[in-house]
Amino acid sequence: MNLYHSTRSAKMAYTSKEAIRTGIAPDGGLFVSDELDECTIDIAALSDMTYTEIACRVLQTLLPDYTPDEIAACVNEAYTNTFASSEVTPVHMLDTPPAGTTSTGVLELYWGPTSAFKDVALQMLPRLIARAQASTDDAADVQPERIMIVTATSGDTGKAALAGFANAAGTGITVFYPEGKVSPVQELQMSTQEGSNVSVCAVRGNFDDAQSAVKRIFADRELAARLKEAGWVLSSANSINVGRLVPQVVYYFASYAQLLRAGVITSGDAVEFCVPTGNFGDVLAGYYAKLLGLPITKLLVASDKNNVLYDFLTTGVYDRNRPFFTTTSPSMDILISSNLERMLYYLSGKDCELISKLMNDLATTGKFTVSSELLMKIQEVFGCGWADENEVADAIRTSWEANGYLIDPHTACGYHVMQQVPADPHAAARVLLSTASPYKFPRAVLEALGVDAPVDDFACMDALETLTNTTAPQQLAELKTKQVRFTDVVDVAGMGAYVEHACK
Ligand SMILES: *Cc1c(COP(=O)(O)O)cnc(C)c1O
Repeated sequence: MNLYHSTRSAKMAYTSKEAIRTGIAPDGGLFVSDELDECTIDIAALSDMTYTEIACRVLQTLLPDYTPDEIAACVNEAYTNTFASSEVTPVHMLDTPPAGTTSTGVLELYWGPTSAFKDVALQMLPRLIARAQASTDDAADVQPERIMIVTATSGDTGKAALAGFANAAGTGITVFYPEGKVSPVQELQMSTQEGSNVSVCAVRGNFDDAQSAVKRIFADRELAARLKEAGWVLSSANSINVGRLVPQVVYYFASYAQLLRAGVITSGDAVEFCVPTGNFGDVLAGYYAKLLGLPITKLLVASDKNNVLYDFLTTGVYDRNRPFFTTTSPSMDILISSNLERMLYYLSGKDCELISKLMNDLATTGKFTVSSELLMKIQEVFGCGWADENEVADAIRTSWEANGYLIDPHTACGYHVMQQVPADPHAAARVLLSTASPYKFPRAVLEALGVDAPVDDFACMDALETLTNTTAPQQLAELKTKQVRFTDVVDVAGMGAYVEHACK
């Protein structure tokens, strides 16, 4: 059952429960399983399966030390009455595909409690952690420990994690976001969060600064020792946690099942996915689905103006030494895509030594280079493209004018890339992952539609409703009257002390 080990060394083995409790491996690597490409999921059976049935199947395969009852309980709690769609993640077919004639569907991942795709995993993660904790508590000699979730967010993870962990027994949660670099709606979502175990704090810096500092907090042994005294261990809700990644694999299979039921494809047909990408978690989950047997031609990595992944996927050089741009798609404003490390692990033939070297290069010089042989392997699976701010706005307008279909700026990056990159000739259909509700970014969407946006974001929501005859999700509209609970701001250097204080 000890399937998991670090991307940087295979010496120590961990169960999936241990991997989920700890979040990141002690050597700074990410937990991976070597059996991933040996497992398979039966594609022929998919069309008769519901979302929760598919979720149970995928989770059991990747988290084998959870009992079937534990998995079923987690899945039912996470997806019963929490998503405003019976499909959980429904597929909407477009009348006029972004380019060419290949049937194109949009996989809507934002019907959960915080209106971003992060909910799919973050409704699940606290339940997985709770079961992982329970099993240690069973051992008489082990003191029950409380878990402090520490998370850096580029905008959406924070709120989705807060919603998942608020008032969860035995846990606390501390969220850091870059000051002034998330949308006003995103900021309000976090600063108004209720719950007795939550803390929210802005950081002077950008997301990469905050994420790097959180990684240092996890690696700080003295801090860990002091917290242990007080009965706390730290863990992560970022997509470096296996418990975040695995639930995201499910919707790739679920969308395939919907395409089968709609008669858009027949069993065995290959599909191409286009994924708006930041930390490389969502698109990596697609690669896991492919390893598990889902027929995927290519995974298109769509970036915004922070196009470090585009450059890497076209040249083999990953270089984070470049200007950072704040865009209308803040959740993709990322220059260090953590989960790339897992993709490199699998495509390098599970070469821990190489991964260690590349990640060391990245930490010391901000840069690494892969061989042309490895780059070619990567390019067989991953296509890429990116959109600047004008192209994002154009994509939002085009989607609306050609399809009467409203998309947010993150999804628009993907829409643009699908216009730019021709479909793989072997793909029977294309699927664009839609990662957030347009109402999370009402100003950017309204302006893209050519309307002079009012000063207030809630007035923008109203204007968008009137213009498009759609409705803002209630949880976003009601932020207008919610009480702000958190106004803290710290320097990067003060983040560790803030976490320690939150544990008191
Ligand atoms: C987090 C996020 C992304 C990027 O997902 P990654 O898993 O970090 O690549 C894209 N769009 C939205 C709306 C997000 O919240």
